[in-house]
Amino acid sequence: MKVGIIGSGIGALASAIELKKLGLEVHVFEANEVIGGKIVEQHLGAYRFDMGPSVFTEPQLLQDLMKGLDPSATFAYRQLAESCRYFFKDGQHIVLPVGKEKVAQAVATTFNEDLQHTKSYLNRMEANYKAIYPVFIQVSLHRFKQFFNASLFKALARLFKYGLHQTMHQQNKAFFKNPRTIQLFDRLATYNGSSPYLAPAMLNIISQLEFNEGPAMPVGGMVQITRQTHALALQHGVAFHTKERVTAIQNRNNRVVGLQTEKASYNFDIVVSNMDVHYTYEKLLPYLKAPRFLLQQEKSSSAVVFYWGINRAFDELGVHNIFFAADYQAEFEAIFQTKTLHPDPTVYVHISSKVEQGDAPAGKENWFVMVNAPINVGQDWDSEIQLLRARILEKLSLSLKTDIEPLIEVEQINEPRLIDARYSGKQGSIYGNASNNAFAAFLRHPNFSKQLKGLYFAGVTVHPGGGIPLAINSAKIVARCVQEDYPSLRK
Ligand SMILES: Cc1cc2nc3c(=O)[nH]c(=O)nc-3n(C[C@H](O)[C@H](O)[C@H](O)COP(=O)(O)OP(=O)(O)OC[C@H]3O[C@@H](n4cnc5c(N)ncnc54)[C@H](O)[C@@H]3O)c2cc1C
Repeated sequence: MKVGIIGSGIGALASAIELKKLGLEVHVFEANEVIGGKIVEQHLGAYRFDMGPSVFTEPQLLQDLMKGLDPSATFAYRQLAESCRYFFKDGQHIVLPVGKEKVAQAVATTFNEDLQHTKSYLNRMEANYKAIYPVFIQVSLHRFKQFFNASLFKALARLFKYGLHQTMHQQNKAFFKNPRTIQLFDRLATYNGSSPYLAPAMLNIISQLEFNEGPAMPVGGMVQITRQTHALALQHGVAFHTKERVTAIQNRNNRVVGLQTEKASYNFDIVVSNMDVHYTYEKLLPYLKAPRFLLQQEKSSSAVVFYWGINRAFDELGVHNIFFAADYQAEFEAIFQTKTLHPDPTVYVHISSKVEQGDAPAGKENWFVMVNAPINVGQDWDSEIQLLRARILEKLSLSLKTDIEPLIEVEQINEPRLIDARYSGKQGSIYGNASNNAFAAFLRHPNFSKQLKGLYFAGVTVHPGGGIPLAINSAKIVARCVQEDYPSLRK
């Protein structure tokens, strides 16, 4: 049997590996010249930048994915000792180490939180995470036989621990007394492009990954995630077609029969779309009735990123740094309601050269400076971005007590219009739908089509959601659905 995969993001590469394991002939079609979707790199002068994701959690998922196809495969990464450094406007700052005990100690010392109380919060999030993971993340919510398993009862047994009636912010506010601790925990909503003031408290389980386990860094940078999965798939016979945009999914009698690309027509028994699900319906399946309710959900945030080569090293900065907005709620209202850039944005600075020395010349640093932004609804981005740049420079210069602008040696900018144009992210949204309501988990598109047999979906715009680990899980679910639908395939 032959499989055609649309796109080459991590969701596609993981699908290619999972389906190759089933003995299928797999072809991947990527519109761009480079494989990897949003996980790609760029060299600017003597600096190297990862263009998209910078936070990497659950590295064992990637290890297991690769080993599943080739037991000798390895993926080298380093576990970071600290998750992030947080800076506040009045000069207060906190370096957050990894691990429950250390996190609780740090917020007790800096924010005067009760040590045991913070530990009990982090323990609860660990238990919630372990209960929810096999039920909401590892299986399809749209297939009873996957969803209805022993883990479901364990997850249900903790129902009263999830804060089902609360938003992330409400739950954090009920737990912690210092608004700065609350802000620090609220921030995790941005991991899937949502607002903590709207997203369900269930998402506070992200604490398990960020605070209890902590982020990792692939050796060689984030780009290694797609580079190495690509190399492995290639080595095992997956065919890659770059600069070949898919223009239609072909069907006969409600069954997928192939793909039309800009260059040719191909026969396939199975198709997996890693393209933003909204665009998959709009551009490749115009003849199907699109699931409007799912697709019309509020979109996740976008981002404006400045890639700056900085002619100095800053000891007070780590790999991940956050310079918080003073009014966090107003910032999220700007992103999701007025669709504007807030005048005092939270600024994220990622510096991979702190651990990957080759990413910047000696004594210099590669700054990935990101602000969460609204999706593109026709804002005057050119002038908005110039204004934002000036505000970021002012904020960082004040906080770091150094004039930053003269230190910028090279610069490039990424923004919502480019995210849409380069990776086909609807209106520049990074994760498809936002999780800005209590039923968000149930309002993502399934990993298979209910209308066309043989059509599947993987990546961050479908179930189980945003982020690299979830995209890998989406591919695993696709493979499981394929096996259920085609029982003759070997396991
Ligand atoms: C600035 C930024 C920061 C981010 N930070 C993080 C982070 O720290 N951690 C994290 O986990 N995630 C982060 N993300 C999200 C991250 O990019 C995703 O988690 C993940 O990389 C998306 O993978 P995906 O499989 O959904 O596909 P994508 O990476 O979105 O790839 C889809 C691919 O499909 C291709 N395509 C689309 N249409 C067609 C077509 N018709 N024919 C052929 N090819 C097509 C596109 O060109 C693209 O290459 C960030 C994203 C951005 C933009």
